[in-house]
Amino acid sequence: MKESNDFKVARYGVLGGTFDPIHNAHLFVAESVLEELNLDKIIFIPSGIPPHKADHKITRADHRLMMTALATNSNERFFVSPMEVNREGKSYTVHTMRELRDENFSAAEFYFIIGADAFIEIETWAMYEELLKITNFVVVTRLGSDDEVLDKIIEKCKHEFGADIYKVTIPNLEISSTDIRSRVEQGKRVEYLIPSAVVEYIKKYNLYSSSTS
Ligand code: NAP
Repeated sequence: MKESNDFKVARYGVLGGTFDPIHNAHLFVAESVLEELNLDKIIFIPSGIPPHKADHKITRADHRLMMTALATNSNERFFVSPMEVNREGKSYTVHTMRELRDENFSAAEFYFIIGADAFIEIETWAMYEELLKITNFVVVTRLGSDDEVLDKIIEKCKHEFGADIYKVTIPNLEISSTDIRSRVEQGKRVEYLIPSAVVEYIKKYNLYSSSTS
């Protein structure tokens, strides 16, 4: 039998987030990037301790991880990693991407998916120079967003760090985790903003109500 020397490098999207809670726009972003860049799968990585939200009240990491698992369960190309939840200390993206790279050697390439608003602040991230060197970025912009500042930062990162940065534009879905938390607290419905399994989970554990500690 003829042996093939062809070795296909897998291409994985990585969507990190606080996911407090995960909502349909997160899932739509993941699906759009998967399709646009023809990736093999998307790994959702809920932050254990989000480095940029030190003074925010955040739901317990095990709840956020479970909601992410429930939300992604029905898509065979969506996976969830507990690596940041299991790691001690703040969840710096550079540590996550180093770990993924080291575990996979040259078998996989990673594409870190990030909203344009967050990418504009990349120079405030821990060890961002190294991060830009070891990771491809996919910056998701919303139709109608102002690209001028973003394009300048993308060009700077490409030029100074040789970063591979892709831009993907998707339609606006005005869904936010902050709004969902506030709706639940006010007793309003969140069906159709988040997957039904996540709605049930929030009810079961009484998350986001003013009585939740
Ligand atoms: P998040 O609020 O949970 O959202 C996750 C991603 O989905 C963000 O990129 C967000 O982009 C996008 N998103 C949310 N709602 C959307 C909508 N309606 N339409 C389109 N996109 C939407 O995430 P986060 O807490 O900002 O964190 C994002 C990642 O960056 C995490 O992995 C975090 O650890 C990492 N981070 C790392 C550092 C560091 O290492 N020092 C610092 C900051 C962040 P938008 O922000 O544009 O909404």
